[in-house]
Amino acid sequence: MTIPANARAVVIGGGVSGCSVAYHLAKAGWKDVVLLERKQLTSGTTWHAAGLIGQLRGSANMTRLAKYSADLYVKLEAETGVATGMRQVGSISVALTEHRREELLRQATVARIFGVDVAEISPSQVKEMYPHLNVSDVVGAVHLPLDGQCDPANIAMALAKGARMRGAAIFEHTKVTGVRQAGGRVTGVDYVGADGEPGFIAADVVVNCGGMWGRDLAAQSGVTLPLHACEHFYLITEPVEGLGHLPVLRVPDECAYYKSDAGKMMIGAFEPKAKPWGMEGIREDFMFDTLPEDWDHFMPILEHAMNRMPLFQTSGIHTFFNGPESFTPDDRYYLGEAPELRGYWIAAGYNSVGIAGSGGAGMALASWITEGEPPFDLWEVDIRRAQPFQRNRAYLKERVSETLGLLYADHFPYRQVVTSRGVRRTPLHEHLKARGAVFGEVAGWERANWFARPGQEREYRYSWKRQNWFENQKAEHLAVREGVGFFDMTSFGKIRVEGRDAAAFLNRVCSAEVDVAPGRIVYTMFLNDRGGIEADLTVTRLSETAYLLVVPGATLQRNLAHLRRCLGEEFVTITDMTAAESVLCVMGPKARDLMARVSPDDFSNAGHPFGTAREIEVGMGLARAHRVTYVGELGWELYVSSDQTAHVFEALEAAGEGLGFTLCGLHTLDSCRIEKAYRHWGHDITDEDHVLEAGLGFTVSKKKPDFMGREAVLRKAEAGLSRRMVQFRMEDPEVMLFHNEAIVRDGKIVGPVTSGNYGHFLGGAIGMGYVPCAGESEEEVLGSAYEIEVAGVRHRAVASLVPMHDPKSERVRM
Ligand SMILES: Cc1cc2nc3c(=O)[nH]c(=O)nc-3n(C[C@H](O)[C@H](O)[C@H](O)COP(=O)(O)OP(=O)(O)OC[C@H]3O[C@@H](n4cnc5c(N)ncnc54)[C@H](O)[C@@H]3O)c2cc1C
Repeated sequence: MTIPANARAVVIGGGVSGCSVAYHLAKAGWKDVVLLERKQLTSGTTWHAAGLIGQLRGSANMTRLAKYSADLYVKLEAETGVATGMRQVGSISVALTEHRREELLRQATVARIFGVDVAEISPSQVKEMYPHLNVSDVVGAVHLPLDGQCDPANIAMALAKGARMRGAAIFEHTKVTGVRQAGGRVTGVDYVGADGEPGFIAADVVVNCGGMWGRDLAAQSGVTLPLHACEHFYLITEPVEGLGHLPVLRVPDECAYYKSDAGKMMIGAFEPKAKPWGMEGIREDFMFDTLPEDWDHFMPILEHAMNRMPLFQTSGIHTFFNGPESFTPDDRYYLGEAPELRGYWIAAGYNSVGIAGSGGAGMALASWITEGEPPFDLWEVDIRRAQPFQRNRAYLKERVSETLGLLYADHFPYRQVVTSRGVRRTPLHEHLKARGAVFGEVAGWERANWFARPGQEREYRYSWKRQNWFENQKAEHLAVREGVGFFDMTSFGKIRVEGRDAAAFLNRVCSAEVDVAPGRIVYTMFLNDRGGIEADLTVTRLSETAYLLVVPGATLQRNLAHLRRCLGEEFVTITDMTAAESVLCVMGPKARDLMARVSPDDFSNAGHPFGTAREIEVGMGLARAHRVTYVGELGWELYVSSDQTAHVFEALEAAGEGLGFTLCGLHTLDSCRIEKAYRHWGHDITDEDHVLEAGLGFTVSKKKPDFMGREAVLRKAEAGLSRRMVQFRMEDPEVMLFHNEAIVRDGKIVGPVTSGNYGHFLGGAIGMGYVPCAGESEEEVLGSAYEIEVAGVRHRAVASLVPMHDPKSERVRM
């Protein structure tokens, strides 16, 4: 077979990821799909995976994808005739601490929402299923009977065969040397073939499935793909007599997993401090390679294993395996189209779950490429969450030394990474630090999450219950409700859209009317063709031809890419202004008094109404004051040029004495906003969630004749809502909600809690989430009995369709 000169899609890389993407594209009806592999299929990382296929995940959509993989792999052998070794041996995860037990039970709840078969089992049941195990200190466990184990290379080969059966062409020993582009779009790939001759395939769609090679390949095209390889270890014993057929076993508290195969026992490790690999690049002839043994590194894991499974004390070692695998800064893989280059798609960076992950990921990506939209919310793994600075290899190397181990660490709510910190800091960083700030990291930004009292330890003490900062948050929260709270929100993404056609362009992209008077602030959505929410943001008209768009720091790259992609012939420039201005927020009933002390300007309702922005004098500097709120109180966001930020802060702080001026962190921002039922993009609202079902119909203009998503809004208005966003308050004030607990309506699980926090003003944990309601009235929805299932236990909840805090927004507009 000769390599074609044209293809509809070229997939780069013949590991499990590339094979799955090719398989699913072919399955979706794509006729001319070409996969190029520099050496042999599976010769990168795939061939040596341990082959665990687990479905227990921390979140709803990752569970959905993992379940898809498991279901697919069971059928693959019959479909392709390739023996995949897939056996549904089941899996057991055991907890050695109460924290871990809670996490496992929470994950089990998420799994149940999606119909994954999962049950809590007792230590004695564990012993029955796994007689070799020392269960003396096991405090809990879950069992998934349909989890499996497989032969990873053969899963990839079966996917490749399935792709070929549907017309895809696969060429080995063919290395892609570059991806060509013109006018911001991919035009094809250059390669060197098996005969050593260069060639070119013209294609509009290229998918980088290059595994640990993927980052540098992407960088050649100006595409950010932040991943870095780490050494990854397992060990296989000599045959053990009477081993029997055992489920896969995970003992995350000892960083280990176990698998029995062909009478031998395998133990793999997720050690807390991993060894990054490949800093000098990857050898050109790397193929089916292994890395050197490192007994010192593996020993702590093995010592635990000897106690946990005494057979390790006596059995000989058959194989010590060490191979490289890609890890990412947040332990999540990357899917989607690169924001920098149209037609450049990515499925890479699998953090040691590439076999279990690729089935679902390949399906999702193929659907995304085909339909132009992901099949459901994939923000967790979306490539657009990557920040340009994350291309830095020193950053990556340090971070992945931590993220490998985090896979088996306790996944406590609010858990912060400890490596590669401090890259992006606001001008107030040192001020806030000196005043007790305890920082968290988002998109590289250091943000004050909460403020410690003088003398209090400035560390998180994580747990699934109230954490050590609970009382700090409460004090901050009440200050916002009763006095005035200060938030440094400089990490907001700030996008300037400017030019002759700015109003017309934005009116096409936004759901709300934005052709408003200069100085007006509009809360709006970007909608997709399904009426799903691509973004929620404020748009402030600065002048006849200039707007400022304010978006969450974490979504900036996504939002920029969306705008740039929507831009047609309009005469408009789009500029990221994030670093130019800080955002200092003063929020609370005493915010007006505070502003009056630092500025001669008029902050009355008449002088500065809600939803408007004005230039003001503040201290001895200038700012633009936006009267908006995300906490449900009177307040202003002050946009201050970076150079004047410290000065303005000092002026506010000095003036705040006697007004209850309180420094507040991001945790308080979240607990306040959830009381007011303000939606949080990425949790409560995503591209999968229809704007009307999200209860955000008020952001959609009824008068504009044309804007993106309008047809979908009209269709839904006609057809009626099939679900509604509901706010819940727990009756028992001790219960904590974080998100991904299950909503139970009249005894039946109906969906996940999309976000949760503690309502210190309302006196209990608050959650939000969708309740199916086709054909039902609001009264009928509220007429049901609601409970929230937390770690397997159901607790009563009060439901509301209007915000429980300040339902008429009287406090906001006071
Ligand atoms: C010790 C170990 C145990 C593991 N256990 C499990 C497990 O139990 N379960 C699980 O789900 N996962 C496991 N994994 C992870 C899993 O193996 C990987 O996540 C998965 O194989 C990654 O697949 P990939 O296709 O992304 O990468 P790869 O398999 O590395 O494939 C990438 C391919 O791209 C090719 N390529 C690169 N550049 C080019 C180019 N320019 N032109 C053409 N081709 C190119 C490479 O040659 C390579 O074949 C394990 C990994 C290790 C190391």
